[in-house]
Amino acid sequence: MASISPANSTVSPVSTAAVSPPAPCFSRCGGQLALFSTARAEFDWDAQDVVVVGHSGGKDSSVCLETVCRQANSAGALHKVRVLHCDLGSTPGGYLIEWPGAAAIARRQAERYGVPFAIRRSSRWTSLYARILAHGKWPGFFARYCTSDLKTTVGRDYIDEVGRELNLRRPVRAGYALGMRAEESALRARKEVVTRHRMTARSKRIVDAWLPVHHLDESTVWSTIRDQALPYHAAYDWGMRRLSCRLCPLAARNDLVQSARLNPGLAAEYARTEAIMGKPFKGNLSMARIIEAANEAPDELSIS
Ligand code: SF4
Repeated sequence: MASISPANSTVSPVSTAAVSPPAPCFSRCGGQLALFSTARAEFDWDAQDVVVVGHSGGKDSSVCLETVCRQANSAGALHKVRVLHCDLGSTPGGYLIEWPGAAAIARRQAERYGVPFAIRRSSRWTSLYARILAHGKWPGFFARYCTSDLKTTVGRDYIDEVGRELNLRRPVRAGYALGMRAEESALRARKEVVTRHRMTARSKRIVDAWLPVHHLDESTVWSTIRDQALPYHAAYDWGMRRLSCRLCPLAARNDLVQSARLNPGLAAEYARTEAIMGKPFKGNLSMARIIEAANEAPDELSIS
């Protein structure tokens, strides 16, 4: 059984198929034109001082960053692009909330385009685990405090940080690009590709939310990763369909069971936390039951 310690992986989380991505090529070759021909986002580069790309380390973030940098290069605005990874911290037991190596993938892709990369964590919460304990209930479809407090707020603070750095003497104007896709859910399908972000505060920042890959289906995401030799997390090869948190209450049951096989230490800690909180991890599905299902057919590879 291979094992990966929570903070220091001994099994590479980066797909070996993408260990040596080629240097970016912004010439108009066929594959790149194919990507552009399907891009429908109308985004005003001239209106922005900076465009921050939120990168979780997942596949949609990777294609989002690829799309943003390609469009920025065409617009002569690559210097405006920055990549932000929001660090969700660790549990008291020392397990990373996110998949180990996710931040490294985001960093590596930023380096590929030569754009600044930053990792930031909430100034209020030491980790998503601490936020969950304080809330007293696990996140859910109608309680996405995890993303609002540990990602959106962190993105807002980072935009303010860049605004101070640019010394504009006026509110910073920023694009905030995320890898959400319409195909993922009915809620996401209804989202506008470009819209004014609710983090806008006219005296401080004016932010346009931008979803550059909103129109892409999953197969196009993967073909882009393959065609552009983008690095991607090995968790996808291990059967996971989504990344970010290793165990997410919003994930499908099968994904949770597979993740519990891969992350038994974190799953056990969440089960203990669940017992203390007295709230099941996901609706009527407890982490204890997820672990039972995982143990019925354990995976050969475990990460923690
Ligand atoms: S992966 Fe799930 S738990 Fe983690 S921030 Fe996203 S919605 Fe919240």
